[in-house]
Amino acid sequence: MDIDAGSDDDVFEEARERAERPMLRLFTQYGEGQRVAFVVGLVSSVFARMLDLLPPLLLAVAIDAVIQDETAFSLWLVPDAWLPTDPVGQLFLTTGIIAATFAFGALFHWSRNWGWNRFAQHVQHAVRTDTYETMQRLNMDFFADKQTGEMMSVLSNDVNRLEKFLNDGLNSTSRLVIMVVGIAAYLFVMNWQLALVALLPVPIIAVFTKRFIETIQPKYADVRSSVGSLNSRLENNLSGIQIIKTANTEPYEADRVEDSSQEYLDANWDAIETRITFFPGLRLVSGLGFVVTFVVGGLMVLGRPPGPLTTTLSPGQFVAFIIYTQRFVWPMAQFGQIINMYQRAYASAERVFGLMDTPGRLEEAADAAPLRVTEGAVEYDDVTFGYGDDPVVEDVTFEVEGGETVALVGPTGAGKSTLLKLLLRMYDVDEGAVRIDGQDVRDVTIPSVRQAIGYVSQETFLFYGSVRENIAYGTFDASDAEIRAAAEAAEAHQFIQNLPDGYDTMVGERGVKLSGGQRQRIAIARAMLKDPDVLVLDEATSDVDTETELLIQRSLSELTADRTTFAIAHRLSTIKDADVILVLEDGRVVERGTHEALLAENGLYANLWAVQAGEIDELPDDFVQRAIRRRARTDADD
Ligand code: ADP
Repeated sequence: MDIDAGSDDDVFEEARERAERPMLRLFTQYGEGQRVAFVVGLVSSVFARMLDLLPPLLLAVAIDAVIQDETAFSLWLVPDAWLPTDPVGQLFLTTGIIAATFAFGALFHWSRNWGWNRFAQHVQHAVRTDTYETMQRLNMDFFADKQTGEMMSVLSNDVNRLEKFLNDGLNSTSRLVIMVVGIAAYLFVMNWQLALVALLPVPIIAVFTKRFIETIQPKYADVRSSVGSLNSRLENNLSGIQIIKTANTEPYEADRVEDSSQEYLDANWDAIETRITFFPGLRLVSGLGFVVTFVVGGLMVLGRPPGPLTTTLSPGQFVAFIIYTQRFVWPMAQFGQIINMYQRAYASAERVFGLMDTPGRLEEAADAAPLRVTEGAVEYDDVTFGYGDDPVVEDVTFEVEGGETVALVGPTGAGKSTLLKLLLRMYDVDEGAVRIDGQDVRDVTIPSVRQAIGYVSQETFLFYGSVRENIAYGTFDASDAEIRAAAEAAEAHQFIQNLPDGYDTMVGERGVKLSGGQRQRIAIARAMLKDPDVLVLDEATSDVDTETELLIQRSLSELTADRTTFAIAHRLSTIKDADVILVLEDGRVVERGTHEALLAENGLYANLWAVQAGEIDELPDDFVQRAIRRRARTDADD
């Protein structure tokens, strides 16, 4: 039996509370298009199960009328005049019908599986793609406070669970209902007294199964949590193997892994002990039922019904009774599993739909037109923004003319990246406005804003694919010559040529590992190829050595020449030629001007410059004190 208790304390708790009647929605919203498959599954199930139930019935007729010759040979729905009169003919007819039920049964089982599987597969496909598309459009803060694994788990585990429920769950439910209703009805018609006896174990099995599920669920939860911590330990140790070796802590780590593994073993064994008792227990209960039915039924056949019972039974009916009672047990035993599957699917549906209903998606104005870039002028008009309640940037106002280069400098955590994310409309400002050529970024379509801006960040992500694909990412129609030209301009062509397959070398996760500097040059080439109106360089050269930086700087100057550019840099030497330098501290612009002007001002910028020039002894004391306070704050943030 496959039961794994879904962990219910998850980061999507809030999302789950948002989802109303998720199962109904699953069927109405996503099942709608698959109505044919659903009906085929349901109708075929009814026919397939009914045909499954026919052979014992025919067997009873064959035994009583043909072999024992006790009753007249008659078949339901068939006029007696059509039936053969000699026993051999009757035997052949009965066997022929049994053979036909098998043949048609096989056909209906096929169409039943076709229907349910088709329904489940199409619904899971639609749910998964829809969830992914919705997730993709959510604000960045949704991603900031969740682990990739947690989101993956919704897209894969939860959707798979829905699929499993839609297939196995619906299948088992229809079987349970048809078998239980069909068999119980038939038994009562045949002999209601023996039916009562035969159905005695049913409530016992129901209670027994319920108890089992209740006992095993927390145990499975323990198994899952111990396997989780074991995996984290292993992953952690393999990543930190160098430290383990240099610190001589192999025995210590071996012990820790052994402890984790032992915990997993104990948790698993605990669950196994319960599980392996359940099935023999079930067998025992149903066996007991069998024995009682056999004795009582046997006495009825002999014409001596025990106790208060008064009815008698033919041998054929007796055989049918025994077979049917046996068929009853397993669907009943599955009852608990169905409930469990339903509960888990319900929780999954809540997570999926809760996620789809996550508020805070950036809204586009109904009448939003595409952004029209003419000059590439950018204006921050009294901008205030915070991720939570506290503002991270406050009252920032400045204007940049088309083609100018603005540098943002300041200590870590001052709000430089945040400020540029507002330009890309990753977030919406709380107060004020960000405008490109006079158009508020909130009034134009989101894709047109992102299309106009090239973004090179300090963390360069490469998709698994060739170098060529990575450069052309987002500019999918670029020719090979254009890709190469972009790579040359980004000083990347040389190293790409030296890779095993040149531009066709696979990079990214599972591909060739590139150094930080190489990755950054690919990202710069990507931006060059895009040829955007506005360029954002967020520490774009932080990961490269000084020599490469010089080369990139040279090519960047080509890229930035006639383009509005925002550059965040720690190494001040890289931005000293900027048209204007904005110095940020604690989310506010504290100084602005050219390099020379700021040096002359002898404020924060001049101090930062002195630090990088190595003139540490000459720094004023209050600058050092402020730096210490700031560091304490950002360290605490981390
Ligand atoms: P800088 O680029 O100047 O180093 P950032 O703009 O990255 O500064 O960060 C400014 C402040 O905002 C920091 O205190 C940082 O911890 C916080 N911050 C950045 N990103 C997020 C986020 N996604 N959610 C919450 N706080 C954030």
